Amino acid sequence: MVKAAALPRNETGIATVIGILKQQFGDRLQTGQAIREQHGHTTTWIDNQMPDAVVFPHSTQEVSEIVKTCAAHKVPVIGFGTGTSLEGHVNAPAGGISVDLMQMNQILAVHAEDLDVVVQPGVTREQLNTHLRDQGLFFPIDPGANASLGGMAATRASGTNAVRYGTMKDNVIALEAVMADGEIIRTAQRAKKTSAGYDLTRLLVGSEGTLGLITEITLKLQGIPEAISAARCSFASMDAACQAVMATIQYGIPVARIELLDVIAVRAVNNYSKLDLPESPLLLLEFHGSENGVAEQAEMFGQIAEEFGGTGFDWTGSTEERNKLWQARHDFYWASLQLKPGTTALATDVCVPISRLAECVNAATAKAEELDLFAPLVGHVGDGNFHISPLIDADNAEEVARTEQFVAWLAELAISMDGTCTGEHGIGQGKRAYLTKEIGPATRYMAAIKAALDPDNIMNPGKIL
Ligand SMILES: Cc1cc2nc3c(=O)[nH]c(=O)nc-3n(C[C@H](O)[C@H](O)[C@H](O)COP(=O)(O)OP(=O)(O)OC[C@H]3O[C@@H](n4cnc5c(N)ncnc54)[C@H](O)[C@@H]3O)c2cc1C
Repeated sequence: MVKAAALPRNETGIATVIGILKQQFGDRLQTGQAIREQHGHTTTWIDNQMPDAVVFPHSTQEVSEIVKTCAAHKVPVIGFGTGTSLEGHVNAPAGGISVDLMQMNQILAVHAEDLDVVVQPGVTREQLNTHLRDQGLFFPIDPGANASLGGMAATRASGTNAVRYGTMKDNVIALEAVMADGEIIRTAQRAKKTSAGYDLTRLLVGSEGTLGLITEITLKLQGIPEAISAARCSFASMDAACQAVMATIQYGIPVARIELLDVIAVRAVNNYSKLDLPESPLLLLEFHGSENGVAEQAEMFGQIAEEFGGTGFDWTGSTEERNKLWQARHDFYWASLQLKPGTTALATDVCVPISRLAECVNAATAKAEELDLFAPLVGHVGDGNFHISPLIDADNAEEVARTEQFVAWLAELAISMDGTCTGEHGIGQGKRAYLTKEIGPATRYMAAIKAALDPDNIMNPGKIL
């Protein structure tokens, strides 16, 4: 496992806060070992650093009271959604109180006429889409996990649809949040755009719980398209598949999804989801629009794919077939673990400008091979974003060292290509070393914002900066 640095603990403050919150919350304040471990990091090779207690608020007012109590005693507050973040975001390096927001899971208002919805932070993306389906609406952001919308806003998440609909940054209209002193603020109203002052909505989106806790989210919705079709196409090499992606984006074909899987990833989903996709680099696509529109997009993509030697191009309007394909793609993480049972997947995440995609993917796969890492690659490649996931024995120090070398090398490669060390997973603990390399002195301004809004550094300490 990779050790995350511990920070000094405020033992007296923590004991006092637990005593006060226990009186107020009764059984909704838990201190058992198992539940605390579950609220530390559990998804990758980063060591678990558990909080001292977990509390389950039911309202914004309760969140405010928790934060006020922690602020009075300078005790860390760590927001928690579904715990699926991948860079140690929910760890408690200085101990403290994990605020689990999953019992605040009400869909408060659907404004169908305005194409927006107001939700509490514990609503998951699947819960929201099930609720919306009958009204002909959907919310497009879809990380592979069924994450909470609070966690997704806090990590500025995206997923397969971002190439068409943007990321959480583009889809959050307004937030209600509890700031580090316990004050409740609203960052905006429901208007689709505003020029009113600093953009606090986008400051909190992606802030990973380090500036405040999000207690209500107003999100943009989309109408379910008249027609949706899915396509797949195989390629002789990763380079050819990436060149086809680059051309598709550069020609402006408005694909809703365009996902790359390498040979190992295809093998994994074939085994796990009982599919028989040809075992070669594969692109999965989805087109949204009118009946004629999706047919036209599919045809245009087919011509591009042919130019780059694509084979087996096939598209379908069948909802059942389409869902089967995308479920398989979303299950890739679990599928990959079955390729080497007992291993941990380190889903590292980089993103580069689309014109550098092929170069970056080719270099990444060559480097993984050189370091003898078994590392399937998948990507939301329409955005220039991909994940390469070494499957490692986390107790094998030598393999861990090779993987650390790879992750650092890849982050720096992406940065050197005008890209980023993380397209969607965030910084957390795991990517902190690369932030200054990526944005240089701008990190000082981030630190100044953090110090101004959270002077005692109680909001999720040890993350981002
Ligand atoms: C199989 C798998 C596939 C994934 N695929 C994708 C993908 O395609 N795209 C992608 O972007 N991510 C992906 N992820 C990562 C993860 O799902 C996202 O980062 C997601 O947004 C985390 O949401 P969560 O509810 O689990 O948040 P958590 O992990 O619980 O928390 C994440 C961070 O947000 C903070 N936080 C949580 N709730 C709040 C709140 N209400 N207010 C303030 N701060 C809060 C936490 O303190 C923490 O810093 C994947 C993860 C897995 C396991």
